Amino acid sequence: MLFSRQEEEKEKKIKDIHTTKVFGTEDSDSILPKYKLKKKSMDPDLAYRVIKDELLDEGSARLNLATFCQTYMEPAAVKIMSETLEKNAIDKSEYPQTTDLENRCVNMIADLWNAPKDMEFIGTSTVGSSEACMLGGLAMKFSWREWAKTFGLNINAQRPNLVISSGFQVCWEKFCVYWDIDMRLVPLDEEHMSLNMDTILDYVDDYTIGIVAIMGITYTGKYDDVEKLDALVEAHNQKTGHQIPIHVDAASGGMFAPFIHPDLKWDFRLKNVISINTSGHKYGLVYPGVGWVIWKDKKYLPAELIFSVSYLGGDLPTIAINFSRSASQIIGQYFNFLSYGFDGYQEIHQRTREVARYIANELMAIGLFDIYNNGDNIPIVCWKMKADANREWSLYDLADRVRMNGWQVPAYPLPANMTDIIIQRVVIRQDLSMQLAELFINDLKEGIHELDNARVIVYGNAIKDKGTYGFTH
Ligand SMILES: *Cc1c(COP(=O)(O)O)cnc(C)c1O
Repeated sequence: MLFSRQEEEKEKKIKDIHTTKVFGTEDSDSILPKYKLKKKSMDPDLAYRVIKDELLDEGSARLNLATFCQTYMEPAAVKIMSETLEKNAIDKSEYPQTTDLENRCVNMIADLWNAPKDMEFIGTSTVGSSEACMLGGLAMKFSWREWAKTFGLNINAQRPNLVISSGFQVCWEKFCVYWDIDMRLVPLDEEHMSLNMDTILDYVDDYTIGIVAIMGITYTGKYDDVEKLDALVEAHNQKTGHQIPIHVDAASGGMFAPFIHPDLKWDFRLKNVISINTSGHKYGLVYPGVGWVIWKDKKYLPAELIFSVSYLGGDLPTIAINFSRSASQIIGQYFNFLSYGFDGYQEIHQRTREVARYIANELMAIGLFDIYNNGDNIPIVCWKMKADANREWSLYDLADRVRMNGWQVPAYPLPANMTDIIIQRVVIRQDLSMQLAELFINDLKEGIHELDNARVIVYGNAIKDKGTYGFTH
C-alpha cells in the first residue's frame, strides 16, 4: 500500500473545490513529487502553474549569450508549431504533406549550398547536427570500406580514422567512440585558429575515412578554409588514387554563410565536399531541435544506410537514425523559409552581425581584452584578457558578475594545446537587439568597475588554484 491510512485521512481533510484560489489549494502548498508518482491527480491548470513557477528559477533564455540555439520565433511560427506537435515526422504515409514540407526544406537547403545541377542530392531532417554528423560520418565510413576493399587494403590491420581540428564539437568525439574510429586531431594554435592547412595532410593515410571541416568553430566562431582544403585534398587524391572526402560541419555557418558570405566557397561548389550538415535551430532560426544533412549525390550515401519501413503503411525510405519525433520543428523550418525568404534571412543575419561588431568594438575600447573573433565569420565575439591587463580578477569573475544581471556569458579554456588561454564568448542571435546589446555592454562595464574596486579575499593559494578566491566590497 502506497499511502498509510493516516496519510489518506490527511488528504481527505482539505477538500479543494473549484472556487479555491490557485495558491490556496493543498497542491500548491506541497513539495512536488520527485521519486514516484503521486497517488492522486492534480487539476491540469494547477499543474501548469506549479511547474511554470518552478521553472521561474532558471535563467532567462534571451539573456543566455552562451548558446547558438534559437530563443525567439515569430508568434505565428509558434502557433503553427504548437498546432502540429502531434504529427510524427517518421510517419510519412499518415502525413504525406508534412513529408513534402520536409522535402521542400531539403531542396531549398541544397540550393543554398549550391548542389550541382548534374547530380542528385539526397538529404533528411534530423534532431540536430549531432544526428546529422553521425550520418555524415557513417556514410564516409561505409564508403571508405567499399573503397578499401577494391583497393585491396587490409581493413582489419588498423582502425579507420577521421581527421578534424581540435576545435571540434563533442558530437564528433561521440561519433568516433560509438563507431570505433580513431579521431585524429589537428591542433589549433595561436597562428592557426582554424584547421591548419600546413599540416593537415600529415594526418591522412589510407585508413582515413574523411576530413571534417568546420564552418563556425564552436570555440572561436572561425571558418575553416574549406576551399584551400579542397585543393589540398584534390592534389592528394590525384597523387595517391585515394578518394578522401570532405564533410563540412556547418552546424552554425550552414544557414549563415549563404546569406552573408555568398562568394565564399565552402559548399558543394567544391569538388571533394560530399556532405554537409547544419542545425536548423541555430542560424536556421527555429527552436530546438531540428538539423539537416545533405549529400551532394546519391552515390555518396551507401545503400546500407537507407532503410525501407513498411509497418506504418506505404513503403518509404528513411535515412535518419532516430525514429519517432514531432514534425513541428520541420514545419517551423518551412514556416521560416516561407515567411522570411532569402531577403528576410539576409536582413536578420546582417543585423545580427552588426550587433556582434558593435559588441566587439565596445570590448576593444575597454582596453583590457584581445579580441579573437569580432563577428566577421559567424556573429560571435570572443576575447581574452590582455597579457598586460594587470588585474586581480579573471574572466571567470567577470562571468559571475554579469550573471547578477541575468546575462550568461561563460568563460572557458581553449581546446587541447591552448588550454592555458581562457576566453569569454558571446553568441549573438537575432533576438539580441542593439538596445539589449547596449544594456549588456553597460552591465559588463559596471561589472569590471566593481571588480576593479573590489577587495580580494584569498582562501588558500589564489595564484595556484584560481577557484579559491572571491571578492567583496
Ligand atoms: C552545435 C554544433 C554541433 C551540434 O549540434 P546540435 O544541433 O546541437 O546537435 C555540432 N557541430 C558544431 C560545429 C556545432 O556548433
